Amino acid sequence: MKKYLTIWTLFSLVLILPLVGIAQTKVSMPKNKNNINKDIEVGGKAASEVDRTFPMVNDRVSEAYINEVGMRLANAVPPEFQHPEFNCKFKIVNASDINAFALPGCWLYVNRGMIEAAHNEGEMAGVMAHEISHAMLRHGTAQGPGLGTQLGALGVLIGGAMIGAPELGAAGYAGLMTPYSRAFEKQADILGANIMARAGYDPRDLANMFKTIAGEGGGRTPEWISTHPDPGNRYNYINQEASMLRVSPNPIKITPGFQRAQNFMRSLPKAKTMEQIEKESQGQQGGQNPTAGGRYGNVGLPSASYRTYNNGGLSVNVPSNWREFPSQSEVIFSPEGAYGDDGITHGVMIGVTQANGSNFQQSFDNYVKGIAQSNNYQMKSNYSNTTLNGRNGLAVVVGGRSNVTNRNELVTIYGSQLNNGSIFYVITVSPEDQATSYQPAFRNIIRSVRLNG
Ligand SMILES: [Zn+2]
Repeated sequence: MKKYLTIWTLFSLVLILPLVGIAQTKVSMPKNKNNINKDIEVGGKAASEVDRTFPMVNDRVSEAYINEVGMRLANAVPPEFQHPEFNCKFKIVNASDINAFALPGCWLYVNRGMIEAAHNEGEMAGVMAHEISHAMLRHGTAQGPGLGTQLGALGVLIGGAMIGAPELGAAGYAGLMTPYSRAFEKQADILGANIMARAGYDPRDLANMFKTIAGEGGGRTPEWISTHPDPGNRYNYINQEASMLRVSPNPIKITPGFQRAQNFMRSLPKAKTMEQIEKESQGQQGGQNPTAGGRYGNVGLPSASYRTYNNGGLSVNVPSNWREFPSQSEVIFSPEGAYGDDGITHGVMIGVTQANGSNFQQSFDNYVKGIAQSNNYQMKSNYSNTTLNGRNGLAVVVGGRSNVTNRNELVTIYGSQLNNGSIFYVITVSPEDQATSYQPAFRNIIRSVRLNG
């Protein structure tokens, strides 16, 4: 029975479809090896980081308004792209840039500058529909062209040198602001246009908003455009898509809610840019780089005597002449003269990072590639088996020119898996020509290091 019903339904669809729009562009979910919970997990972490770093516009009426528009759009997402697991949240960032972004799992942030720049609610909703589409198509955790997942590329360069690739802590926000691919952009435009029409807006307002944003940039490329590159002909193909969609004859444009919110934003004291806010918050935390302020100079050999470092479940024997620099998910040990604003030239980094792959080997490879990429390192060896933290793990050697010493440095990255699936890593760093004299110290560290719980 069911079979016949389905076929009949199909027939009736074919008959009805031409009236609704025969040439709508088809959007299909990109390949994604991550479980849907991954989106919620990484998005949630990044969202709390964003909330901690950026001020929100704390105005109940504006909050209620952005939530009302957001939910209208989220509810209009075509059923095949809905994720009941997601619980979309909408917030207004008190920042002047014309920007908006979505984190995996559907945390949506619209900058105050975006609301101030929009000509009507339709334009603002257009950007939001585009962002919701990125979240629903799971672009943040999907396989990007050529580079694994967007999240896999999270190795981060801070201050020109390596301080390790932090998990979605200090650098998660910057990592998630990396541009989407043009293919993903087009998908978000097409699905966004569809959502607009289904929610009672005119999809052409999404196209119009691109012109509005570009016009407001004042010569420089607005942040939103740089992270959402134009796949080409964006304005035209969105308008063409709109002509295929059933658009309300009386679409939502200017609303009292929009006018009130816009007037309110414009009446507030001038907002800072996101970059200014981020810089200031780093200043308060003493810089993202825990070794900042150190002076590079002559570096003595590792002491033959050792001390045991014990903190937060981590225990390790380190040369007694090395200092420690603990931060959120990592601790660095380095001798005098070897640490400073550009990271370390001699020493070790020990920490935990999220796994971004379907198994340990793949996750570790993504992690290593992130570090190599952000430090301009080449691979110097194949992966070899090792023991770390009492478990089987992998090790690999990378290296390249240090911009501090201007000498070649050798970096060995060790990793093994923790019970929760995260990667426990130890990274050893020394100039290539001193590698032999540092070998015993590194060996002792690898042998003694333990992370419990
Ligand atoms: Zn986009």
